[in-house]
Amino acid sequence: MSAGARWRVSVDRSLCVGSGQCAAAAPDAFRLDAARQSHPVTEETAARAEVWEAAENCPAEAVTIRLHATGEVLFPPPE
Ligand code: SF4
Repeated sequence: MSAGARWRVSVDRSLCVGSGQCAAAAPDAFRLDAARQSHPVTEETAARAEVWEAAENCPAEAVTIRLHATGEVLFPPPE
């Protein structure tokens, strides 16, 4: 995770099971709507540990983090 990097976070709503873990880990980055579907609060965010942890801890593997500048997928990491 490079300091000062900007990320683009997305949630695949077809995978999200509404567990709420992402919003608990990073409440300023993820929010659940009335249907308990998560969505990013802002499309772009500063690179930070709690957003990464939210992606890692999502039980449905629904969170994707991309480098904003290039669109490179950072999470999930390439196999
Ligand atoms: S942790 Fe994953 S499954 Fe749970 S609400 Fe967030 S995106 Fe959805």
